[in-house]
Amino acid sequence: MSETMKNYIEEAERDLLHTYNRYQIVLERGDGVYLYDLDGKKYLDFVAGIAVFALGYNNKKYNDALKGQIDKLIHTSNYYYNVPAIEAAKKIKRVSGMDRVFFTNSGAEANEGAIKAARKYAYRKDKRTDHEIIALNHSFHGRTMGALSVTGNAKYREPFEPMIGNIKFADLNDFDSVLAQVTDRTCALMMEPVQGEGGLLPATEEFLKSARRLCDERDILLIFDEVQCGMGRTGFMYAWQRYGVKPDIMTTAKALGCGVPLGAFLMTERVGQSSLEAGDHGTTYGGNPLAATAASTVLDLFEEEHILEHVRQVAPYLEKRLDELAERHEDILERRGCGLMQGLRFSHPVAEIINRALDRGLILINAGADIIRFVPPLVITREHVDEMISILDASIR
Ligand SMILES: *Cc1c(COP(=O)(O)O)cnc(C)c1O
Repeated sequence: MSETMKNYIEEAERDLLHTYNRYQIVLERGDGVYLYDLDGKKYLDFVAGIAVFALGYNNKKYNDALKGQIDKLIHTSNYYYNVPAIEAAKKIKRVSGMDRVFFTNSGAEANEGAIKAARKYAYRKDKRTDHEIIALNHSFHGRTMGALSVTGNAKYREPFEPMIGNIKFADLNDFDSVLAQVTDRTCALMMEPVQGEGGLLPATEEFLKSARRLCDERDILLIFDEVQCGMGRTGFMYAWQRYGVKPDIMTTAKALGCGVPLGAFLMTERVGQSSLEAGDHGTTYGGNPLAATAASTVLDLFEEEHILEHVRQVAPYLEKRLDELAERHEDILERRGCGLMQGLRFSHPVAEIINRALDRGLILINAGADIIRFVPPLVITREHVDEMISILDASIR
């Protein structure tokens, strides 16, 4: 490592709050599915900023659209209309089938909005202030207090107790465990259609359909957090579309802005008409002209570059190569996941393997201590998969 890079890392460790154990590289630029550090070393990127940079780095059309908007207008307040937000809302409605959009700055903030919308919906029905939300164990919804409260990982929550109240937890793909938590005060059932941080676990069709039926019968709002599994990653624009189980409220972020901080919560017209009203919710930056231009351009590029079709073609190849790898190494216990959102569970912690891969020029990330997660840019090809497998193979041995 160069002195320059070492100095930057030392400075970072002096100045930035130490909430991350960072990998020992300073990244400088990206091109396609490759990243380069300050010393010019090249890395194949199978993380994409954790499922963010779907289109690959340095996409000319995306870059040009942002540069053009910077010269026009970066920010106004949400008290005024702006064309990029109107365009982005129209496009995201079309791909999601939802009816009303609220733009946020992050996934956590989108989930905060979803929780508020669900509580307000229930409040307007019965004026009670003790409504409950059912969330799932091993879920991840973000680090702000509301999103953390519905995150099914006690280790993340405990030091920050008390959480927002009246949250109950059930198990993914165990519908009886959900039923056991339902009361006459339940206002929402919240889940990721494919759990990301929790270990790359997809919800079954049966579980999603049972959840939908329960919510319809009891007028409970079904909230899907599509922050990680959405935006084409599973081969569907949103993971729920695979089974046609539509939520009442949905959140999206990560790849929505492809690097410009942006999220959204969306709802059906019915929920839109009977939950949040003027004055109930707001954000200074959410959906500003620059961020909305990013979303609008990303959604255009998904269509022009046939991203969904591409994911459906390349994902089975990734699965096949990961399965072969799992057969060769007995410390790989299983492959999990869906589309370009895959995990390999090992019989031991994976940190060392990830560090060895990094030395060899491959960027990977974990999900929990013993799972390596694969959430590459959606534009990867079979050749990139082969390159990744060969480096990973050598890093396991
Ligand atoms: C990353 C993530 C979040 C949080 O998004 P931020 O933009 O980091 O706030 C929420 N839910 C899921 C499923 C995520 O993967």
